[in-house]
Amino acid sequence: MSGISVSDLTAVSLLEAPVPERAMAVAGCRERGCTAAALARCAYVDGRGHSCQTAWCHQHLREIGAEGYCRRHASTVAALGGKSKDPRALPAVDHRGASLVNWICTEGHSALQGAVASALRPGEVIFEDRTVNVVRQSDGSRRWERGWRIGARSGLTSKVLVCVEESDDALVLLAIDDQVVAVAVPPWITRRRAHQAVTDALDARDRSQFYGFLLGHIQSVLAVRS
Ligand SMILES: [Zn+2]
Ligand SMILES: [Zn+2]
Repeated sequence: MSGISVSDLTAVSLLEAPVPERAMAVAGCRERGCTAAALARCAYVDGRGHSCQTAWCHQHLREIGAEGYCRRHASTVAALGGKSKDPRALPAVDHRGASLVNWICTEGHSALQGAVASALRPGEVIFEDRTVNVVRQSDGSRRWERGWRIGARSGLTSKVLVCVEESDDALVLLAIDDQVVAVAVPPWITRRRAHQAVTDALDARDRSQFYGFLLGHIQSVLAVRS
């Protein structure tokens, strides 16, 4: 039997390449349980020109402005607001950074903002970020962050930021006055990775523990600020 040379394999894979492309065009909507045909692809294209390959029926494509997106990319674009027009702000197609930061600041809003508010000193006020910001770090990698700044007549006195770095999009960092004071993987991400289903009650308990963890760090760090 003669062996298959490397050049033969290359030829085979090139010949087969168009098949998944054709299959994609007639595939169904990506939404679980939806049997409708997929009519449009997610419009997300990241800063390197990589596009999202998922396709959806009209009902499950999420529209923002004139474009339609999958769930993750709709939340990414919404999280960045006007900055989503800048390719340098966009996370890679498979990176959940911006949407995760935004989700935590939304779902955990009352707990987290409450912790910041309880640390205010006389004359101080809170400025809240409405969208996620992207910052370039000293090593060149990016970080998505959103949070609260405390200001007084003299200027900004503290900032509390929920961050996700480019290097690990499951790890949430709590940074207070430029110091990372806590890191955690949200429980729903841990469970999804482990393919673990839980009851709504357990899910709610885990989430409130997670926000309680962040809240506790905000309170204890702000309590001893100078
Ligand atoms: Zn659908
Ligand atoms: Zn997408």
